[in-house]
Amino acid sequence: MKHIEIIMPQVKACTAQACGFNKDMGCHARAITVGDENNPGCDTFFAVPDISAHAKSVGRVSGVGACKVADCKFNDDYECMADEIIVGFNNTKASCQTYVHQ
Ligand code: SF4
Ligand code: SF4
Repeated sequence: MKHIEIIMPQVKACTAQACGFNKDMGCHARAITVGDENNPGCDTFFAVPDISAHAKSVGRVSGVGACKVADCKFNDDYECMADEIIVGFNNTKASCQTYVHQ
């Protein structure tokens, strides 16, 4: 596998424990994609039925690979420019809590 190195904002924490990439309130995807237009939902979220189906590579901390929420004050050219973000879970939906409407 070829590797690339990219500087991305870190996903500092995520409370969406039903997501397959979540373990111990952390996101362990390589990178996530956030949002569509003005909705800062986590597009990478997917629900898994039980803990055994969660990601095993828990040493990895995820980054924000892309964000489509152009009206967030941290968004520049569909990229997140915050130092880090926090993702929260509300009923059935995971959303970026660092979002600030500009
Ligand atoms: S909801 Fe998004 S940020 Fe949270 S663990 Fe899943 S992919 Fe990561
Ligand atoms: S802070 Fe703003 S730009 Fe960064 S991921 Fe969240 S919604 Fe997107």
